[in-house]
Amino acid sequence: MRVLLIEDETRLAEFVRQGLVQHGHVVDVAADGPTGLEQAALTAYDVVLLDMMLPGQNGLEVLRNLRQFGNNPQVPVIILSALSDTRHVISGLDAGAQDYLRKPFELDELLARLRALDRVRATPAAAPLRLLDLELDPLHRAVTRGGRPISLTNREFALLELLLRHAGRVVPKTRIAEKVWEVDYDMGSNVIEVHISQLRRKLDRAFPDQPPLLETVIGHGYRLRS
Ligand code: CA
Repeated sequence: MRVLLIEDETRLAEFVRQGLVQHGHVVDVAADGPTGLEQAALTAYDVVLLDMMLPGQNGLEVLRNLRQFGNNPQVPVIILSALSDTRHVISGLDAGAQDYLRKPFELDELLARLRALDRVRATPAAAPLRLLDLELDPLHRAVTRGGRPISLTNREFALLELLLRHAGRVVPKTRIAEKVWEVDYDMGSNVIEVHISQLRRKLDRAFPDQPPLLETVIGHGYRLRS
């Protein structure tokens, strides 16, 4: 999973980072709330691990900001905190965290909670995804715009589904490579650009009366407008 760890205790942060990396996770560390929020706005993380007692902005404020202004407001958040009172746990969960792990914790427990989160996330959501007049039906692998069918290749379909699941948010090319191409992706190729341009032709140019949906955010990635 792509993990953002917001933690100001350098030794603990390094211990967690190393442990997660050893288990195949990709981890970025931010030492304070504002830096963490900045990183969360640029990268589509799968989970944020959030300390509560942070300099400048405490964890609850960071959490509220993530939920209100973040690039990915739905990103799962696990609070890691020495504040072990039930009322702290309750306020963290009520502020929108998925989970609360009391410090000190064992790395194995954190890893197990990440696996649990990943299982929930990996459950394929069968409900159709909609954006304005665009509809994608994952179950029947069908796409329509304004009720008119759009024929897509498997890769184009996977690409559109990924963008739709993050509608309104920038999806970085690295994330597209990881989710749509997995191990087949050749870093040097322009295969993503080619697929985006085919998708744009089928999705937007074929519907000149409708507002274009697919945007390129130069230097960052691609986004379906919300
Ligand atoms: Ca702290």
